[in-house]
Amino acid sequence: MSQKSSIFALFLAILIIQHNDLNAQNAHNEAPNLIIITTDGFRWQEVFNGMDFALANDKKFNHGDSAYLFNKYWSNSSIGGSSIDSANSVLERRAKLLPFITQTMGKKGLLFGNRFKENKVDVANPHWFSYPGYNEIFTGYPDSTINSNNYPPNPHENVLAFLQKQKAYQNKVIAFGAWDAYNRILNEAASGFPVINGFESLSSILPDSQTKMLEQMLKDSYKPFKEAECLDVFTHQQAKYYLATKRPKVMYISYGETDEWAHEGNYSAYLDAAHQVDAWVADLWRWVQSTPGYKDNTYLLITTDHGRGFGEGWTDHGADVKGASSIWFGLMGPEIKSNLNKIKQTANQQLYQKQLATTMAKLLGLQFAPAHPVGAPIY
Ligand SMILES: [Zn+2]
Repeated sequence: MSQKSSIFALFLAILIIQHNDLNAQNAHNEAPNLIIITTDGFRWQEVFNGMDFALANDKKFNHGDSAYLFNKYWSNSSIGGSSIDSANSVLERRAKLLPFITQTMGKKGLLFGNRFKENKVDVANPHWFSYPGYNEIFTGYPDSTINSNNYPPNPHENVLAFLQKQKAYQNKVIAFGAWDAYNRILNEAASGFPVINGFESLSSILPDSQTKMLEQMLKDSYKPFKEAECLDVFTHQQAKYYLATKRPKVMYISYGETDEWAHEGNYSAYLDAAHQVDAWVADLWRWVQSTPGYKDNTYLLITTDHGRGFGEGWTDHGADVKGASSIWFGLMGPEIKSNLNKIKQTANQQLYQKQLATTMAKLLGLQFAPAHPVGAPIY
Protein backbone atom coordinates (compact mmCIF):
# COMPACT_ATOMS: atom_id res chain seq x y z
CA MET A 1 0.00 0.00 0.00
CA SER A 2 1.27 3.44 -0.90
CA GLN A 3 1.64 6.03 1.85
CA LYS A 4 -1.27 7.96 0.34
CA SER A 5 -3.61 4.98 0.25
CA SER A 6 -2.64 3.85 3.75
CA ILE A 7 -3.44 7.36 5.05
CA PHE A 8 -6.75 7.14 3.21
CA ALA A 9 -7.43 3.67 4.74
CA LEU A 10 -6.66 5.06 8.19
CA PHE A 11 -8.99 8.01 7.57
CA LEU A 12 -11.73 5.63 6.44
CA ALA A 13 -11.20 3.41 9.50
CA ILE A 14 -11.53 6.42 11.81
CA LEU A 15 -14.76 7.43 10.05
CA ILE A 16 -16.15 3.91 10.45
CA ILE A 17 -15.18 3.79 14.14
CA GLN A 18 -16.74 7.20 14.73
CA HIS A 19 -19.87 6.13 12.91
CA ASN A 20 -20.14 2.96 15.00
CA ASP A 21 -19.58 5.01 18.15
CA LEU A 22 -22.39 7.32 17.14
CA ASN A 23 -24.66 4.35 16.48
CA ALA A 24 -23.79 2.93 19.89
CA GLN A 25 -24.38 6.36 21.45
CA ASN A 26 -27.78 6.66 19.78
CA ALA A 27 -28.75 3.18 20.91
CA HIS A 28 -27.85 4.22 24.48
CA ASN A 29 -29.83 7.42 24.23
CA GLU A 30 -32.84 5.54 22.93
CA ALA A 31 -32.88 3.17 25.92
CA PRO A 32 -35.72 4.33 28.19
CA ASN A 33 -34.95 6.40 31.27
CA LEU A 34 -36.19 5.69 34.78
CA ILE A 35 -36.88 8.09 37.65
CA ILE A 36 -37.73 6.62 41.04
CA ILE A 37 -39.20 8.75 43.82
CA THR A 38 -39.88 7.75 47.41
CA THR A 39 -41.41 9.83 50.18
CA ASP A 40 -40.74 8.13 53.49
CA GLY A 41 -43.61 6.54 55.39
CA PHE A 42 -46.36 8.39 53.55
CA ARG A 43 -49.68 6.58 54.02
CA TRP A 44 -51.93 5.11 51.34
CA GLN A 45 -54.83 6.58 53.34
CA GLU A 46 -53.90 10.15 52.35
CA VAL A 47 -53.03 9.17 48.77
CA PHE A 48 -56.49 7.77 48.14
CA ASN A 49 -58.64 9.68 50.62
CA GLY A 50 -56.86 13.02 51.00
CA MET A 51 -56.68 14.78 54.34
CA ASP A 52 -58.09 12.84 57.30
CA PHE A 53 -60.92 14.78 58.97
CA ALA A 54 -60.35 13.46 62.50
CA LEU A 55 -56.59 13.96 62.49
CA ALA A 56 -56.87 17.49 61.07
CA ASN A 57 -59.47 18.29 63.73
CA ASP A 58 -57.41 16.88 66.62
CA LYS A 59 -55.55 19.49 68.74
CA LYS A 60 -52.74 17.00 69.37
CA PHE A 61 -51.98 16.90 65.67
CA ASN A 62 -53.06 20.24 64.17
CA HIS A 63 -50.99 22.37 66.58
CA GLY A 64 -53.93 24.66 67.23
CA ASP A 65 -54.46 25.64 63.59
CA SER A 66 -57.13 23.45 62.06
CA ALA A 67 -58.28 26.40 59.89
CA TYR A 68 -54.98 26.26 57.97
CA LEU A 69 -55.48 22.58 57.17
CA PHE A 70 -59.17 22.81 56.31
CA ASN A 71 -58.63 25.84 54.06
CA LYS A 72 -55.80 24.22 52.22
CA TYR A 73 -56.74 20.55 51.92
CA TRP A 74 -60.42 20.04 52.74
CA SER A 75 -63.08 19.81 50.07
CA ASN A 76 -65.88 22.35 49.88
CA SER A 77 -68.29 19.75 48.57
CA SER A 78 -68.05 17.74 51.79
CA ILE A 79 -71.55 17.78 53.15
CA GLY A 80 -71.95 20.75 55.52
CA GLY A 81 -68.18 20.93 55.93
CA SER A 82 -68.41 17.75 57.96
CA SER A 83 -66.59 14.46 57.78
CA ILE A 84 -69.41 12.91 55.77
CA ASP A 85 -68.08 12.02 52.34
CA SER A 86 -69.58 12.32 48.95
CA ALA A 87 -67.72 10.68 46.08
CA ASN A 88 -66.83 14.13 44.77
CA SER A 89 -65.45 15.35 48.05
CA VAL A 90 -62.96 12.46 48.17
CA LEU A 91 -61.77 13.23 44.65
CA GLU A 92 -61.47 16.94 45.47
CA ARG A 93 -59.52 16.31 48.65
CA ARG A 94 -57.09 14.00 46.89
CA ALA A 95 -56.59 16.55 44.13
CA LYS A 96 -55.92 19.36 46.62
CA LEU A 97 -53.30 17.40 48.52
CA LEU A 98 -51.57 15.56 45.66
CA PRO A 99 -52.57 17.11 42.34
CA PHE A 100 -49.88 15.42 40.26
CA ILE A 101 -50.05 11.95 41.81
CA THR A 102 -53.84 11.69 41.92
CA GLN A 103 -54.69 13.65 38.76
CA THR A 104 -51.87 13.33 36.23
CA MET A 105 -50.49 9.98 37.34
CA GLY A 106 -53.89 8.70 38.43
CA LYS A 107 -55.32 9.35 34.97
CA LYS A 108 -52.38 8.86 32.58
CA GLY A 109 -50.59 6.26 34.66
CA LEU A 110 -51.43 3.65 37.29
CA LEU A 111 -51.91 3.95 41.05
CA PHE A 112 -51.84 0.82 43.20
CA GLY A 113 -52.74 0.26 46.85
CA ASN A 114 -56.22 1.78 47.14
CA ARG A 115 -57.60 -0.44 49.89
CA PHE A 116 -60.93 1.40 49.72
CA LYS A 117 -61.22 -0.40 46.38
CA GLU A 118 -59.67 -3.68 47.57
CA ASN A 119 -56.47 -3.00 45.65
CA LYS A 120 -53.67 -3.94 48.04
CA VAL A 121 -49.93 -3.40 48.20
CA ASP A 122 -47.85 -4.50 51.18
CA VAL A 123 -44.24 -4.84 52.18
CA ALA A 124 -43.19 -8.50 52.37
CA ASN A 125 -40.53 -7.91 55.03
CA PRO A 126 -41.64 -8.42 58.65
CA HIS A 127 -40.22 -5.17 60.07
CA TRP A 128 -42.21 -2.26 58.63
CA PHE A 129 -39.54 0.42 58.93
CA SER A 130 -37.07 2.11 56.62
CA TYR A 131 -33.89 0.13 55.90
CA PRO A 132 -35.81 -3.15 55.42
CA GLY A 133 -38.29 -1.31 53.18
CA TYR A 134 -35.74 0.39 50.95
CA ASN A 135 -33.79 -2.86 50.78
CA GLU A 136 -36.96 -4.61 49.58
CA ILE A 137 -37.72 -1.92 46.97
CA PHE A 138 -34.28 -2.04 45.40
CA THR A 139 -33.07 -5.63 45.87
CA GLY A 140 -36.47 -7.31 45.52
CA TYR A 141 -35.48 -9.50 48.47
CA PRO A 142 -37.33 -8.98 51.78
CA ASP A 143 -34.44 -10.47 53.73
CA SER A 144 -35.69 -10.66 57.34
CA THR A 145 -32.13 -10.54 58.73
CA ILE A 146 -31.95 -6.91 57.58
CA ASN A 147 -33.60 -5.76 60.76
CA SER A 148 -32.09 -2.43 61.76
CA ASN A 149 -31.71 1.08 60.35
CA ASN A 150 -28.08 0.81 61.48
CA TYR A 151 -27.51 -2.30 59.37
CA PRO A 152 -24.11 -2.25 57.64
CA PRO A 153 -23.66 -1.91 53.85
CA ASN A 154 -26.27 -4.03 52.09
CA PRO A 155 -24.83 -7.42 50.99
CA HIS A 156 -27.50 -7.89 48.28
CA GLU A 157 -27.22 -6.53 44.75
CA ASN A 158 -29.76 -3.80 44.02
CA VAL A 159 -31.46 -3.07 40.71
CA LEU A 160 -29.68 0.28 40.32
CA ALA A 161 -26.29 -1.47 40.55
CA PHE A 162 -27.57 -3.99 37.99
CA LEU A 163 -28.56 -1.14 35.64
CA GLN A 164 -25.19 0.53 36.16
CA LYS A 165 -23.60 -2.64 34.72
CA GLN A 166 -25.71 -2.50 31.53
CA LYS A 167 -24.07 -0.80 28.56
CA ALA A 168 -26.95 1.61 27.95
CA TYR A 169 -26.93 2.81 31.58
CA GLN A 170 -23.23 2.71 32.47
CA ASN A 171 -22.22 5.85 34.41
CA LYS A 172 -25.76 7.14 33.90
CA VAL A 173 -27.13 6.09 37.31
CA ILE A 174 -27.31 8.24 40.44
CA ALA A 175 -29.18 8.35 43.76
CA PHE A 176 -30.02 11.28 46.04
CA GLY A 177 -31.41 10.80 49.54
CA ALA A 178 -32.24 13.18 52.38
CA TRP A 179 -31.47 10.48 54.98
CA ASP A 180 -27.81 9.58 55.44
CA ALA A 181 -28.41 5.79 55.28
CA TYR A 182 -28.50 5.34 51.51
CA ASN A 183 -24.74 4.94 51.18
CA ARG A 184 -25.30 1.72 53.17
CA ILE A 185 -28.74 0.71 51.87
CA LEU A 186 -27.57 0.96 48.24
CA ASN A 187 -24.01 -0.05 49.15
CA GLU A 188 -22.37 2.79 47.30
CA ALA A 189 -18.88 1.27 47.54
CA ALA A 190 -19.96 -1.97 45.82
CA SER A 191 -22.61 -0.59 43.48
CA GLY A 192 -20.44 1.66 41.34
CA PHE A 193 -22.78 4.66 41.05
CA PRO A 194 -22.80 7.85 43.15
CA VAL A 195 -25.10 8.16 46.15
CA ILE A 196 -25.45 11.70 47.49
CA ASN A 197 -27.19 11.49 50.85
CA GLY A 198 -27.77 13.43 54.06
CA PHE A 199 -25.45 16.43 54.24
CA GLU A 200 -23.16 15.24 51.44
CA SER A 201 -22.91 17.80 48.69
CA LEU A 202 -23.31 17.30 44.97
CA SER A 203 -20.24 19.54 44.62
CA SER A 204 -18.14 16.47 45.55
CA ILE A 205 -18.79 15.09 42.05
CA LEU A 206 -19.96 18.18 40.18
CA PRO A 207 -18.07 21.22 41.45
CA ASP A 208 -19.36 24.50 40.07
CA SER A 209 -20.75 27.76 41.43
CA GLN A 210 -24.31 26.44 41.64
CA THR A 211 -23.42 23.26 43.59
CA LYS A 212 -21.06 25.27 45.86
CA MET A 213 -23.96 27.59 46.66
CA LEU A 214 -26.23 24.64 47.43
CA GLU A 215 -23.48 23.15 49.59
CA GLN A 216 -23.18 26.36 51.60
CA MET A 217 -26.96 26.54 52.07
CA LEU A 218 -27.03 22.90 53.15
CA LYS A 219 -24.35 23.62 55.77
CA ASP A 220 -26.13 26.72 57.07
CA SER A 221 -29.64 25.26 56.99
CA TYR A 222 -32.00 24.56 59.87
CA LYS A 223 -31.43 20.95 60.95
CA PRO A 224 -34.62 19.69 62.64
CA PHE A 225 -33.44 16.08 62.13
CA LYS A 226 -29.89 16.77 63.33
CA GLU A 227 -27.01 15.34 61.28
CA ALA A 228 -28.89 12.26 60.04
CA GLU A 229 -31.14 13.95 57.52
CA CYS A 230 -31.33 17.22 55.63
CA LEU A 231 -34.47 19.07 54.62
CA ASP A 232 -35.96 17.68 51.40
CA VAL A 233 -35.47 20.95 49.50
CA PHE A 234 -31.70 20.39 49.34
CA THR A 235 -32.01 16.82 48.12
CA HIS A 236 -34.48 17.93 45.48
CA GLN A 237 -32.55 20.94 44.20
CA GLN A 238 -29.32 18.97 43.92
CA ALA A 239 -31.07 16.12 42.07
CA LYS A 240 -32.85 18.48 39.72
CA TYR A 241 -29.63 20.34 38.93
CA TYR A 242 -27.82 17.07 38.22
CA LEU A 243 -30.63 15.88 35.96
CA ALA A 244 -30.56 19.08 33.92
CA THR A 245 -26.78 19.29 33.61
CA LYS A 246 -25.52 15.67 33.55
CA ARG A 247 -28.54 13.91 32.04
CA PRO A 248 -28.51 10.62 33.98
CA LYS A 249 -30.72 7.86 32.53
CA VAL A 250 -31.62 6.39 35.91
CA MET A 251 -32.15 8.62 38.93
CA TYR A 252 -33.50 7.91 42.39
CA ILE A 253 -34.65 10.71 44.72
CA SER A 254 -35.60 9.90 48.30
CA TYR A 255 -37.52 12.47 50.33
CA GLY A 256 -37.68 12.05 54.09
CA GLU A 257 -39.76 14.77 55.73
CA THR A 258 -43.14 12.99 55.55
CA ASP A 259 -41.91 10.36 58.01
CA GLU A 260 -40.12 12.83 60.30
CA TRP A 261 -43.12 15.15 60.74
CA ALA A 262 -45.43 12.17 61.25
CA HIS A 263 -43.27 10.90 64.13
CA GLU A 264 -43.56 14.34 65.67
CA GLY A 265 -47.35 14.17 65.36
CA ASN A 266 -47.35 17.29 63.18
CA TYR A 267 -50.17 16.61 60.69
CA SER A 268 -49.86 20.02 58.97
CA ALA A 269 -46.16 19.56 58.28
CA TYR A 270 -46.72 15.94 57.19
CA LEU A 271 -49.32 16.99 54.61
CA ASP A 272 -47.34 20.05 53.51
CA ALA A 273 -44.24 17.89 52.97
CA ALA A 274 -46.23 15.47 50.80
CA HIS A 275 -47.86 18.36 48.91
CA GLN A 276 -44.38 19.76 48.20
CA VAL A 277 -43.06 16.39 47.00
CA ASP A 278 -46.04 16.19 44.65
CA ALA A 279 -45.20 19.65 43.25
CA TRP A 280 -41.55 18.69 42.78
CA VAL A 281 -42.45 15.51 40.94
CA ALA A 282 -44.83 17.50 38.73
CA ASP A 283 -41.96 19.89 37.97
CA LEU A 284 -39.60 16.99 37.13
CA TRP A 285 -42.22 15.46 34.86
CA ARG A 286 -42.73 18.78 33.05
CA TRP A 287 -38.97 18.86 32.45
CA VAL A 288 -38.96 15.24 31.28
CA GLN A 289 -41.80 15.84 28.84
CA SER A 290 -40.18 18.93 27.35
CA THR A 291 -36.64 17.56 26.98
CA PRO A 292 -35.51 15.54 23.94
CA GLY A 293 -34.24 12.10 24.92
CA TYR A 294 -36.55 12.10 27.97
CA LYS A 295 -39.85 13.07 26.39
CA ASP A 296 -41.98 9.95 25.83
CA ASN A 297 -38.98 7.84 26.80
CA THR A 298 -39.07 7.93 30.61
CA TYR A 299 -40.70 5.77 33.26
CA LEU A 300 -41.59 7.21 36.66
CA LEU A 301 -42.15 5.17 39.81
CA ILE A 302 -43.34 6.74 43.07
CA THR A 303 -43.66 4.75 46.27
CA THR A 304 -42.87 4.59 49.96
CA ASP A 305 -40.82 2.34 52.25
CA HIS A 306 -43.58 1.45 54.75
CA GLY A 307 -47.04 2.43 55.91
CA ARG A 308 -48.19 3.77 59.27
CA GLY A 309 -50.95 3.07 61.77
CA PHE A 310 -54.65 3.94 61.60
CA GLY A 311 -56.34 6.80 63.53
CA GLU A 312 -54.20 8.02 66.41
CA GLY A 313 -51.66 5.37 65.43
CA TRP A 314 -50.81 7.38 62.29
CA THR A 315 -47.66 8.80 63.90
CA ASP A 316 -45.94 5.44 64.16
CA HIS A 317 -44.93 2.33 62.21
CA GLY A 318 -43.04 -0.91 62.86
CA ALA A 319 -44.08 -4.56 63.24
CA ASP A 320 -46.18 -3.77 66.36
CA VAL A 321 -48.26 -1.09 64.55
CA LYS A 322 -51.36 -2.51 62.90
CA GLY A 323 -51.60 -1.52 59.22
CA ALA A 324 -48.00 -0.31 58.85
CA SER A 325 -47.17 -2.96 56.25
CA SER A 326 -49.64 -1.44 53.79
CA ILE A 327 -48.18 0.80 51.12
CA TRP A 328 -48.96 2.19 47.65
CA PHE A 329 -47.12 2.98 44.45
CA GLY A 330 -47.70 4.82 41.20
CA LEU A 331 -46.31 4.38 37.70
CA MET A 332 -46.13 6.59 34.65
CA GLY A 333 -44.45 6.10 31.32
CA PRO A 334 -44.35 7.06 27.68
CA GLU A 335 -47.82 7.53 26.26
CA ILE A 336 -47.06 5.54 23.13
CA LYS A 337 -45.36 2.14 23.06
CA SER A 338 -45.33 2.05 26.83
CA ASN A 339 -44.81 -1.19 28.73
CA LEU A 340 -47.34 0.18 31.22
CA ASN A 341 -50.04 -0.83 28.74
CA LYS A 342 -49.22 -4.45 29.55
CA ILE A 343 -49.95 -4.01 33.27
CA LYS A 344 -53.39 -4.99 34.53
CA GLN A 345 -54.99 -3.36 37.52
CA THR A 346 -57.73 -5.48 39.04
CA ALA A 347 -59.95 -5.55 42.12
CA ASN A 348 -58.77 -7.90 44.88
CA GLN A 349 -55.22 -7.52 43.63
CA GLN A 350 -52.45 -8.13 46.15
CA LEU A 351 -49.03 -6.82 45.19
CA TYR A 352 -45.80 -6.62 47.20
CA GLN A 353 -42.94 -4.18 47.51
CA LYS A 354 -40.52 -7.00 46.61
CA GLN A 355 -41.94 -6.97 43.04
CA LEU A 356 -40.79 -3.43 42.30
CA ALA A 357 -37.11 -4.14 41.53
CA THR A 358 -37.81 -6.71 38.82
CA THR A 359 -40.67 -4.55 37.52
CA MET A 360 -38.35 -1.54 37.14
CA ALA A 361 -35.89 -3.62 35.10
CA LYS A 362 -38.67 -5.13 33.00
CA LEU A 363 -40.11 -1.71 32.15
CA LEU A 364 -36.68 -0.93 30.67
CA GLY A 365 -36.69 -4.21 28.76
CA LEU A 366 -34.25 -5.96 31.10
CA GLN A 367 -34.36 -8.90 33.46
CA PHE A 368 -33.05 -8.37 36.99
CA ALA A 369 -32.00 -11.87 38.09
CA PRO A 370 -29.50 -11.48 40.94
CA ALA A 371 -28.04 -14.28 43.11
CA HIS A 372 -30.71 -13.80 45.82
CA PRO A 373 -34.47 -14.56 45.61
CA VAL A 374 -36.60 -11.76 44.08
CA GLY A 375 -40.30 -10.99 43.76
CA ALA A 376 -41.78 -11.50 40.28
CA PRO A 377 -42.47 -8.42 38.12
CA ILE A 378 -46.07 -7.21 38.38
CA TYR A 379 -46.67 -8.08 34.72
ZN1 LIG B 1 -40.16 6.40 60.68
